[in-house]
Amino acid sequence: MTSLSPAARGRLADLIAGPVFTPGDDAYAVETAGFNLTLPHRPSLVVGATGPADVQHAVRFAADHDLAVAVHTTGHGAVVSADGSLMITTRRMSGVTVDAPGRSARVQGGVRWDQVIPAAAVHGLAGISGSSPQVGTVGFTLGGGLSPVFGRTRGFGADHVRAFDIVTADGQLRHVTADREPDLFWAARGGKGNFGVVTALEFGLFPISRLYGGGLFFTEAQAPAVLDVWRQWAPTVPENLSTSFCLLRLPGDPLILHVRIAFLGSTEEGAALIAPLRAAAPAFQDTVAEMPYTATATIHNDPTEPGAGIDRSALLRDLPRQALDTLLSAPEDDLMMTEIRLLGGALQRPPAVPAAVGNRQDAAYCLFTASIPAPVPGDAERIREAQRRLLERMAPWSTGGAYANFQSTEDTGPAAVRAAFAPDSWDRLLDIKKYFDPANLFRINHNIRR
Ligand SMILES: Cc1cc2nc3c(=O)[nH]c(=O)nc-3n(C[C@H](O)[C@H](O)[C@H](O)COP(=O)(O)OP(=O)(O)OC[C@H]3O[C@@H](n4cnc5c(N)ncnc54)[C@H](O)[C@@H]3O)c2cc1C
Repeated sequence: MTSLSPAARGRLADLIAGPVFTPGDDAYAVETAGFNLTLPHRPSLVVGATGPADVQHAVRFAADHDLAVAVHTTGHGAVVSADGSLMITTRRMSGVTVDAPGRSARVQGGVRWDQVIPAAAVHGLAGISGSSPQVGTVGFTLGGGLSPVFGRTRGFGADHVRAFDIVTADGQLRHVTADREPDLFWAARGGKGNFGVVTALEFGLFPISRLYGGGLFFTEAQAPAVLDVWRQWAPTVPENLSTSFCLLRLPGDPLILHVRIAFLGSTEEGAALIAPLRAAAPAFQDTVAEMPYTATATIHNDPTEPGAGIDRSALLRDLPRQALDTLLSAPEDDLMMTEIRLLGGALQRPPAVPAAVGNRQDAAYCLFTASIPAPVPGDAERIREAQRRLLERMAPWSTGGAYANFQSTEDTGPAAVRAAFAPDSWDRLLDIKKYFDPANLFRINHNIRR
């Protein structure tokens, strides 16, 4: 770990309006805590930024002292150890402003979706957020931003960014739009935290206050028949219906199939559309009903407490019967949750303003698998091996590409990072990275490098 003299830390602390922590400080552990506990962080220095000026001082200090910069908002997407780095925590930058007539929001760099959703809902509006509202708005959007409600009708969150303010490696605060900084505007919308620290983000909102959504839960015995219906039915549904399923295998319990629905239309039309699923088998729990947009987190019911987790993902072009049999026959207990989201619609079309988000056209489904390792020697390796085998067995239907936001601690090598982008995008990303961050200060991430 790089050791910094107390004098150097003192000089930085004098410049920063927010708190500065070093290992040994009482609040250090809380400030650096992540969501995925398999990856604890031990940065040399932590800056609790309160605004762009703090970020600028911190970035300049890191450059002068040859420290990598880690950006930490909620810790939901931390994939590389931040040990020895200068970590900038953004949660104190928490302002949200909604422009209802302009159907847009401007959020500061540390805002979570659960801070945006209620503020926009007051105006009958919502942004493109993911399955967990605890996730950070900036991290989610820069990594693409796949919504289980809006994705198929509106595309990725990155497609609806109007502007952002970013502190680049030279310490400059830049206001970036499609016209002012077209390269940076393109690259950061998909290239994630590689280009600097975003201190504010402006993005479009859409009118919505209710939807027809929820989950259908089936037993292990029912799962093959229901999934066979789902696989034939899902490609036929209109774009305003989003759906996914999750196979839950909790140790010692029988498998549960959770089918998720979000329909942006009337209750009657929604009920008619999902009738084939309800007819496939009697669900032991059926929560699909009219719901306010603010309740959409209940559709996936993602975990809300930090824990250890190991995950992998893949994009699939097709989901024939054989692929479902492969998922269903995976060894029990090794794969605790395996999810397939239907993509398609606007997610497969080019956006109005090009963005670096890759692999749109040929990906029809997204596969994600996660497990919690037991705290016993060898368990994490057992899970990694099971996940590796699953991806290998699903390879016949895989596009070979990846979705950046679902890449994990297991996908940080250069080839894995590159797989999230189109080949011609990759060369352009490398050029833009070299121009804005020649020393690769921002490398505590899925790092864009040769
Ligand atoms: C339970 C769960 C559910 C999820 N659901 C979805 C989903 O439905 N759709 C989807 O697309 N993704 C989803 N994700 C993935 C999530 O969008 C990414 O992991 C995202 O990067 C998390 O951002 P964060 O700020 O919350 O996390 P952090 O760990 O704090 O940040 C992750 C990375 O984002 C970058 N970053 C964060 N803030 C800034 C900033 N202000 N400036 C510059 N870079 C920044 C940095 O590179 C940082 O390392 C989910 C993740 C989890 C754990």
